[in-house]
This record gives sequence, C-alpha cells and structure tokens, in this order.
Amino acid sequence: GNDFVLSVQLVPFDSTRKLLLTRDITQLERVQTVHRDFVANVSHELRTPLTVVGGFLETLLDMPDMDASTREAQLKMMFEQTQRMQRLVEDLLTLSRLENGVEARDERVDTPGLLQLLASEAQGLSQGRHRIALKLDSPVQVRGNYDELHSAFGNLVSNAVRYTPEGGQITLRWQQENGAPIFSVQDTGLGIEAQHIPRLTERFYRVDRGRSRATGGTGLGLAIVKHIAQRHQAKLDIRSELGQGSCFAIHFPPNRVVEPEAQLSKA
Ligand code: ADP
Repeated sequence: GNDFVLSVQLVPFDSTRKLLLTRDITQLERVQTVHRDFVANVSHELRTPLTVVGGFLETLLDMPDMDASTREAQLKMMFEQTQRMQRLVEDLLTLSRLENGVEARDERVDTPGLLQLLASEAQGLSQGRHRIALKLDSPVQVRGNYDELHSAFGNLVSNAVRYTPEGGQITLRWQQENGAPIFSVQDTGLGIEAQHIPRLTERFYRVDRGRSRATGGTGLGLAIVKHIAQRHQAKLDIRSELGQGSCFAIHFPPNRVVEPEAQLSKA
C-alpha cells in the first residue's frame, strides 16, 4: 500500500499519467476487495463447522451421563464437520499451489485410461443412484499433469453426481473436434440459470448454498478446474439449462495431443 502512494507523489503532473495511475489504483482496489472478500469467506466457511463442533463438545463435557445413542449421533455430526473443514483446507491448498504458479511436470496422460478410472469413481460416488455412461470417441492421449487432470475431471464428475437427482444420467466423454481433444461431463440434473454461469468459477460462488453444503461442496471446485484448465492452455465451456441439465467441457488445444507411441522428452 505505502510504496504505491509514494510513487504517486514522485510522478510529475501530466494528464495522461494521472489517468493511468487512476486506472492502476482502481485495479489495485479491486484486487484488495477480492482479497478481503476471500479472507472473509474462508473465515466464515471455517467458523460454521467449528461452532458446531465446539457446541457439541461443550454438551458432551457438560453431560457425562448422556445416553449412548445421543452421544453417537453427536460424535457423528462432529466427524462430518471436521471432514468438511478438511476438504476445505485441502481445496484451499490446491488453489494456492495453482495460483502461486508452482510448475507441474508435464507427462503423457493416458486419457482414455483416466476416463475409465473416473467412470468407476463416479459409480462409487453415485452408489447406484444414476446411470453412468462412458463414451470414448477418441483414443488420443494428451500431454499434461496426471494428478491435475484427474483432479479437474474429478471435480466435474463429482459435481454432476451431486447436482443430479436420483435416476438421472451422467455421461463422461472423450472426443476430438478438428484435432482438439475435449473432455466433457453431461448430466440430466438441476441445470443452472444463464445469469449464474459466468460466475460459477469464482471462489465460493454457489447457486444454492444449502445444496452445495449438504452434498459436501466447498464452493472451490470450479475455481480449481478453471486454473488447471488454464495451465494446460485449455478452456472450460459450460452449457446448461435450468431443469434440463448441464454440460461442462474442457477443450484442449490440438498441440496437447501426443501420439500413443511417442516418447515425451524428459526435462
Ligand atoms: P460446490 O462445492 O458448491 O459444488 P463448485 O465450484 O464445484 O462448488 O461449483 C459452484 C456452483 O456451481 C455449485 O455450488 C452449483 O451451484 C453449481 N454447479 C456446479 N456443477 C453443477 C452441475 N453439474 N449442475 C448444476 N449446478 C452445478
């Protein structure tokens, strides 16, 4: 903050310069607001489960003779809240790693294999409540970071499961369009109103806070997906219709394709 003010004073008056500085200050203020909001959001997200856990602990300490079933119910709720905090902290660490630009090693990712793994993970999450389909329309592999792509695709899959009511269909697809590989997850779930779509990748932006929380959401999933896509020069495309379902697609540039037999040069 202070360095910035000092540099303003050192600059001789000149109308173009002044305009430029005004714009920089506006931008700085915006960055500061985003940062403040973020800290406030994180604090709030952590305070809620902490309050719940603290409250139950107090009851348990005050009532040593509590009956076993009540005690068990309370312990279970405390456990769920600590898991929620853990997920949040893990997502925050993932985001911070991505934002600090820590270089991830590129490797050859067996994308069809990864999709098969994701489809079985989807089965696990869905527990038979949805039909899960896998469409491997392309055999191509891509150059990228396996763990990051697993995490990005996995976030889209878990969202599809969480925002699709029982009986719905979830389709994982790997295809190529004009040489460009595309990973997509299509669901027949709740869908999203158009006005929300541009904001979905903002940290902690949720259409329905209650539903997100109830299904274990941290509000950071799509922010993570967007970062990972960017690091792979890929684009996240979101299409959705309220009450019909959604399709989240990651479009990779054609130069990310690696031939199955090609060796990646070791860095
Ligand atoms: P969350 O942890 O809340 O799911 P995300 O960043 O993954 O956070 O998603 C942000 C919001 O986007 C969600 O809260 C939800 O409102 C909406 N959303 C994401 N995926 C879907 C989907 N497949 N169908 C409907 N809404 C979705």
